[in-house]
Amino acid sequence: MAYVADLHIHSRFSRACSPQLNVPNLAEWAKLKGIDVLGTGDFLHPLWFAELKSQLKEDGSGFLSWGSEGGEGIKFVLTVEIASMYSDKGRGRRVHNLIFMPDFTSAEAFQKALLSRKATLGSDGRPIVGTSSKDLLSLALQASEKALFICSHAWTPWFGIFGSQSGYDSLEECFEDLTDYVYGIETGLSSDPAMNWRIKELDNKSIVSFSDAHSLPNLGREATVFNEDISDGFMGLWEAVRNQKIAGTIEFYPEEGKYHYTGHRNCGVRYTPEETKRNGEVCPKCGRGLTVGVMERVEVLATRENVQLKIENVQGVIKSKEFPNRTGYRMLVPLLQIIAEAFNTAPTTQKVLNEYKKLISTLGSEIKVLTKVSIDDIAKISGPKIAEGVDKVRKGDLLIDPGFDGVYGVVKIWQSGESGVDEKKVEAPQLGLFD
Ligand SMILES: [Zn+2]
Ligand SMILES: [Zn+2]
Ligand SMILES: [Zn+2]
Repeated sequence: MAYVADLHIHSRFSRACSPQLNVPNLAEWAKLKGIDVLGTGDFLHPLWFAELKSQLKEDGSGFLSWGSEGGEGIKFVLTVEIASMYSDKGRGRRVHNLIFMPDFTSAEAFQKALLSRKATLGSDGRPIVGTSSKDLLSLALQASEKALFICSHAWTPWFGIFGSQSGYDSLEECFEDLTDYVYGIETGLSSDPAMNWRIKELDNKSIVSFSDAHSLPNLGREATVFNEDISDGFMGLWEAVRNQKIAGTIEFYPEEGKYHYTGHRNCGVRYTPEETKRNGEVCPKCGRGLTVGVMERVEVLATRENVQLKIENVQGVIKSKEFPNRTGYRMLVPLLQIIAEAFNTAPTTQKVLNEYKKLISTLGSEIKVLTKVSIDDIAKISGPKIAEGVDKVRKGDLLIDPGFDGVYGVVKIWQSGESGVDEKKVEAPQLGLFD
């Protein structure tokens, strides 16, 4: 049976993360969202690691079980994100990478290797290290030959492997002779798989998607579906990522990401790629360089044009006719956001949360409600407005205002007026307390 995995999250030991991020809460919210396998995040942090060891059991598959039943519950995988800050080939580099480990012993070996390089692991769940991305990959593989190494949110300007400000122009430039051991690329909130399909170097890499949640409600906002059986555990996951056998991904609208367009936040300047071509990359107001967004950066590094992909949308699943082996993806809007907009209030209010839990406890997980449950059934539980919202999301009938230079984009379901929504009252959808 296929399963849904969210393998990039953080614990309450990472900076700017919710204090609610503990194991029982994570398991509860994973269930609400429809996630079967959840990353632990932050396994290098000594306190979080001790908590994981005492609360989760190795079940022999490489996945960790929570709760006394074991089999039925949510499975966890040991995951961590590491921020590497170093100088390479004459430039300052800041790159985030994800590492997954098949058991506590390998995780501990990796921890020791970093400590022997004088890394500080106790102050931030997502540690900042001076070790290069390539050295990290090498250390991870020495700790376990089954370690999975994935470049986080690959396109964000400051911390992505392909970032315009402190990244690289190719995987090869960064990982050299170890490039083949990088099995996956995370799209991040600001890019979608199709943008990554334009890079030839990524043709033999899995394109995966995870939430990078810093709070419980954001779990699963992006996720990857695997065709493997959950009982195949870590080895099934490893094979799938390594051999590009993933079933598909669930995506945010990339326009909602903080770095979709090029711009300068303080001056309110935002350019589409066409506008950047016309006006250049210098801010017309303050004269400083603009932060080059993800779209722009893809255009720079792309080895094929968007039209060459022959994108098609088959009942909400986006695929490439040119590259049929590339698995498709679905664009969704979080259910809390749909309910909030229907109620004309913020996604963080109790009223929204109550409606969310009512809908899900009756009809199944969020992912099921967003993709499978009939619109009539949703209307019976939550009324016609919310049902219409889900229908509009499935049809992609939305209003989109792209993000730039650290400002989240906004996706709206109804035109103001259409729902009597006062535009100013609706909060930006991703402005959760902890992001
Ligand atoms: Zn990151
Ligand atoms: Zn992260
Ligand atoms: Zn400016």
